[in-house]
Amino acid sequence: MKGTYILQSTRARFNKSEVDPTCRILLCNYAEETMLHILLECPGLDIVRKPILSDIKYEVNLLSCKATKLWDEHSLEEQVNIITDCTSLYTCDRMQAERLEGVEFQCKRLIFSLHNERYKHLKLSDKTP
Ligand SMILES: [Zn+2]
Repeated sequence: MKGTYILQSTRARFNKSEVDPTCRILLCNYAEETMLHILLECPGLDIVRKPILSDIKYEVNLLSCKATKLWDEHSLEEQVNIITDCTSLYTCDRMQAERLEGVEFQCKRLIFSLHNERYKHLKLSDKTP
């Protein structure tokens, strides 16, 4: 998820004439498939994303203090950065370092679940004429 994951938008950049950058998830097919789209926006992945994102939000808000923001105070780009590498939330506080493991676990869970769901959709759409 740190730049090596192959999305439709990545494939289209290298093969503009043959690859459509549009998201191929069922119930979506309207937006360019980018990391932000897959992690936070694609409506076709909402059912997988919503409960885990709620856990991430809970963990990040537990971690927040005067020096850090609550989940909803982060921009969408910042949220993508946290999901793909939550070490940006690291502070020197030992208690927080332990809580950061909770954030990391939920972020990995989200990425793994979204990857599996996306793969399922891609396999289904390959079989559709
Ligand atoms: Zn989509």
